[in-house]
Amino acid sequence: MIVILKRSATEEQVQRVCAVIEEAGFKAHVSRGEERTIVGAIGTSPEMRPRLMEMFAGQSFVDRVVPVLKPYKLVSVEARAGRSVVEVGGVPVGVGHFTVIAGPCAVESEEQVMTAARAVKEAGARLLRGGAYKPRTSPYDFQGLGEDGLKMLAAARDETGLPVVTEARSPGHVETAARYADAIQIGARNMQNFDLLTEAGRSGLPVVLKRGLAATVEEWLKAAEYVASVGNMNIILCERGVRTFEQSLRFTQDLAIVPVVQELSHLPVIVDPSHASGRRRLVPPVCRAAVAIGADGLLVEVHPDPDRALCDPAQQLRPEQFRQVMQQVRDLAAVMGLSV
Ligand code: PEP
Ligand code: MN
Repeated sequence: MIVILKRSATEEQVQRVCAVIEEAGFKAHVSRGEERTIVGAIGTSPEMRPRLMEMFAGQSFVDRVVPVLKPYKLVSVEARAGRSVVEVGGVPVGVGHFTVIAGPCAVESEEQVMTAARAVKEAGARLLRGGAYKPRTSPYDFQGLGEDGLKMLAAARDETGLPVVTEARSPGHVETAARYADAIQIGARNMQNFDLLTEAGRSGLPVVLKRGLAATVEEWLKAAEYVASVGNMNIILCERGVRTFEQSLRFTQDLAIVPVVQELSHLPVIVDPSHASGRRRLVPPVCRAAVAIGADGLLVEVHPDPDRALCDPAQQLRPEQFRQVMQQVRDLAAVMGLSV
């Protein structure tokens, strides 16, 4: 249930609404927008809901009371006054900002990540990515450099000024990753690792939540709700392709899910064409399509020398290709009225 307050509602009235909600056994969640303030009552005391609704509906400072029937509450469109902008190290994602996160699949060496960081910065990316804890399908494949890799990412941020997004593969990685990074990524294979979602949420850092390999939108948004439910609303959803019968791509990019998600949730949603396609030739067209369909940004793998990459060699763009696609992204974003 959410209580939408009138514009004229005072802070004292907002606090009073919260207190009544909490006394009734719910958790109060306040969202302040330009136009209105919304207070969400999150919890599982259904028997209290009608009484609360009746009580708030009679208050002069309440505009209306809306039951949220969806299983995800805090991340649903009803729970917020307008769409969310998530800031990663001061860089905005969402609402007018088309933000590109780029960098290598995995951090391999100081020189590799520094070269990649300089290249993506020069091409116009606003955030640097790189995995130090890699979720690999085979236990014999390169697993990432761990904390040493995080230090290399932090050094690349210090030189280029690009805030860093990196994956935590297990709850135990979150605290260490949070010491070096500006946002925590949760990988597709971990979308329903509920302990990891909670731990990442508790870090207070923004969370980039990849869609699971076979996750429905509802499952994805419920996973986001785990992060939100521990008080962290800084969530960026990332569509990275889903498994279908089609074999000519690594996964099938579900681009039309972007406007679907935007109808259901206020969270920004970005597109990762690298993991969906698995082939670098297919990455630029999907980057262009992502701008046109109204995504809030991209996550693109770029490696200084992809043929020698220790992870995902076929899909990582060469710096020159990334430069070209960024030019196209900027042109298209201008048409859409977005800043890059
Ligand atoms: C990644 O971003 O490097 C990654 C492993 O992605 P995903 O979890 O989407 O496969
Ligand atoms: Mn990868």
